[in-house]
Amino acid sequence: MPKSALDPRDPLGLDDLFDAEELAVRDTVRAWCADRVLPHIADWYERGELPEVRELARELGSIGALGMHLEGYGCAGASAVQYGLACLELEAADSGLRSLVSVQGSLAMYAIHRWGSEEQRQQWLPGMAAGETIGCFGLTEPDHGSDPASMRTRAKREGADWVLDGRKMWITNGSVAGVAVVWARTDDGIRGFVVPTDTPGFSAPEIKHKGSLRASVTSELVLEGVRLPAAAALPEVSGLKGPLSCLNQARYGIVWGALGAARSCLEAAREYSIGREQFGRPIAGFQLTQAKLADMSLELNKGLLLALHLGRRMDAGTLRPEQVSYGKLNNVREAIGIARTARTILGANGISYDYPVMRHANNLESVLTYEGTVEMHQLVIGQALTGQAAFR
Ligand SMILES: Cc1cc2nc3c(=O)[nH]c(=O)nc-3n(C[C@H](O)[C@H](O)[C@H](O)COP(=O)(O)OP(=O)(O)OC[C@H]3O[C@@H](n4cnc5c(N)ncnc54)[C@H](O)[C@@H]3O)c2cc1C
Repeated sequence: MPKSALDPRDPLGLDDLFDAEELAVRDTVRAWCADRVLPHIADWYERGELPEVRELARELGSIGALGMHLEGYGCAGASAVQYGLACLELEAADSGLRSLVSVQGSLAMYAIHRWGSEEQRQQWLPGMAAGETIGCFGLTEPDHGSDPASMRTRAKREGADWVLDGRKMWITNGSVAGVAVVWARTDDGIRGFVVPTDTPGFSAPEIKHKGSLRASVTSELVLEGVRLPAAAALPEVSGLKGPLSCLNQARYGIVWGALGAARSCLEAAREYSIGREQFGRPIAGFQLTQAKLADMSLELNKGLLLALHLGRRMDAGTLRPEQVSYGKLNNVREAIGIARTARTILGANGISYDYPVMRHANNLESVLTYEGTVEMHQLVIGQALTGQAAFR
């Protein structure tokens, strides 16, 4: 193959757009994934387990990856761009690892950090930042996903206490969590509750038979007369604004993370195409293969520029939720397109877990759906462009 002047892993020289600290965060997370995740992930995925989840959480805590972009309480206080790069590297290993970190930091910890009382922050955040306590975030219900305003889970006052009844579905980290942030309907609108998972009446059966995100714990939350003290409610927010503010944080991480999965697929396809010969020459030499690789590289790098733009806006405090929708919609949609195209380049090997491509492609099916489906983000953007809400 003629020598290219470009680095195929960074053809546009985007590394020049990051400062030394940002690159250091990226390299730390990349090295941790190479050491702790990549040697095992295909096996974990095939078994449908994340067997060392508690140990992994503690290690992620020790490298500062949990609640990374939050200030104080043992959190790293990193920038949004640093957090984004960490998400990208984690998801280049597996979307399940990035989900663990996103749910812990952007959903459970962010909810307590942003909307909790000082006592709640002191009680939960240091242990969560260290990975000693795993958190989950219960918003989705069996009958209410895209439309959480219709949720049925209820919190009723009994004297000073709250009593929660209901069910949540598809909850990442649920069965391994020590604390659950649960959203429930009250007489004053939707409120968030910090629920220690050893509270009587709380259980979290794991969801099995997943064809996607298999190296991730996904659970149902069952709440049957879960009695909590008054201080368990998040005091600073009521209404959907509470959970939506958390989702906005997690979606931001996905804008970057999905590109990690895409990068892994592109790299696997590029290497494979150079080594695989058909009709007497490497398949990389065929124009149709090159068109695929060129288009994949184009979309990956456009996505990176979009992620970086949104990250700089988040660090400047000017990022709007609708702008996050542009990033989530585009980057996950393009990432899954890259994964599917990469799979074709690998031919039959594309369906084997000996290569990362099928695993990423399957994972991205979940990423396409959670944190707002493609259609929901189209509707958010549509509303921003027209002033018309088309959700109902
Ligand atoms: C692996 C995994 C992990 C998850 N982790 C969590 C978690 O930790 N916490 C949590 O709370 N949730 C979690 N979720 C749930 C996720 O957020 C929901 O699946 C998602 O919000 C979609 O809800 P739904 O599955 O009920 O689909 P539905 O809302 O039933 O949607 C089904 C289809 O209808 C479309 N649709 C719905 N309404 C409209 C409309 N108005 N216009 C056009 N199309 C529409 C949707 O876009 C979608 O294509 C997870 C999901 C998965 C798969």
